[in-house]
Amino acid sequence: MGVGLTGVGLTAAVQVQYIDTYEFTQLGQAIGGDVALAQFTRLLDDLPEQDSASQVTWALKGERDMSGQRFLQLHVHASPRLTCQRCLAPLEWPIQSDTRLLLVNSEAALEVDSPDDESAEGIERIVGARRFDVLALVEDELILCLPYVPKHEVCPSSLVALPEQDEPPTEEHVRPSPFAVLGKLKKD
Ligand SMILES: [Zn+2]
Repeated sequence: MGVGLTGVGLTAAVQVQYIDTYEFTQLGQAIGGDVALAQFTRLLDDLPEQDSASQVTWALKGERDMSGQRFLQLHVHASPRLTCQRCLAPLEWPIQSDTRLLLVNSEAALEVDSPDDESAEGIERIVGARRFDVLALVEDELILCLPYVPKHEVCPSSLVALPEQDEPPTEEHVRPSPFAVLGKLKKD
């Protein structure tokens, strides 16, 4: 049994890796599951060693709207371990992502913006397939969610060490109060 599938309408969590996006959206199907983070080798290529128990929870739902456009609604939840670029200590990076993807029929259609297509404007596109790799999609999403330069909000080492001479506080940019400006205008 998978975890975190409530609300997706699944009773049994079958680990499906491939779907037919046409059928999946036509029937409004939903799948999901938990996968070991270690399975995503492309993601882990540049990351430090992970907690072996680390899991990725994902859910995918197919939709077809009134105008026949097909969508995938993807949910991904994970907590990969990254390396802080300030203190070089490990850093857990919680990912909680919800993405809506418009299915198109060809690579060419990824780029073309048809003008009568306003409902799908600004939505990420993806090419559908009869044999679509769901876990590759999950992995792509995880990679997209990684920060370019991961950093602790406050590095653990800075909590232990004596407070170092911090950078001088940057002078706050003082904006004149709108009332002060009004007062000036009145005087003129
Ligand atoms: Zn740090």
